[in-house]
Amino acid sequence: MRIDIITCVPSLLTSFFSHSILDRAYRKGYAEVVVHDLRDYSTHKHKQVDDYAFGGGAGMVLKIEPIAAVIRKLQSERSYDEIIYMTPDGARFDQPTANRLSLLKNIILLCGHYKGVDQRVRDLFITREISIGDYVLSGGEIPAAVVADSVIRLIPGVLNDETSALSDSFQDNLLAPPVYTRPAEFEGHKVPEILLSGHEAHIEAWRMEQSLLHTQKRRPDLLKDHNN
Ligand code: SAH
Repeated sequence: MRIDIITCVPSLLTSFFSHSILDRAYRKGYAEVVVHDLRDYSTHKHKQVDDYAFGGGAGMVLKIEPIAAVIRKLQSERSYDEIIYMTPDGARFDQPTANRLSLLKNIILLCGHYKGVDQRVRDLFITREISIGDYVLSGGEIPAAVVADSVIRLIPGVLNDETSALSDSFQDNLLAPPVYTRPAEFEGHKVPEILLSGHEAHIEAWRMEQSLLHTQKRRPDLLKDHNN
């Protein structure tokens, strides 16, 4: 899978993607993230990528020409399954969306800044709009990193234990059960006996029960869609 991210602040993203599992995903050849600096596509002498909003009001707007130029250049090189704009008025991002996106081959994530992007960018190029939650950030870089991280870790082979992404919260509409590691006892607080029993079927049943209880307590709304 290849994810191209378009931003006017590339430095916010390059360090994020050069660490941890995302870097490993790249080195193993499962996923490649390429960050594009919008300013490289500005024809303005000061590399300007934003301008005042027509009609007045506070806040700058990202211009259409550099965004169109980078998207068209990328489209001339390969075909894209989705061109996604990160925006607070988009569809709320969730695990099923991450699952679906992880099956795609090439996607573009466009990060807005300031007041956002010229509406014509959205009308002409964007195939999907995603919000990471009902709050406003100053740029689309963190949202793009959220989407890329959650999608890439789902690609088979990226995580060491292939099943581990499937046992995370929200898969199957359940929250994850509690996890423990050594020591088996800390200042008198013991790990549940069953986890030390070595009995796989019992452990699995215990984890399922814990998942259900935990979900009932914290997110009963999820259980409505849980197919039991
Ligand atoms: N004026 C816009 C907000 C702009 S915030 C509005 O009221 O809807 C600047 C940029 O940050 C946006 O263009 C978007 O790319 C990004 N952004 C901010 N909050 C976001 C969120 N919750 N989800 C996804 N992207 C977000």
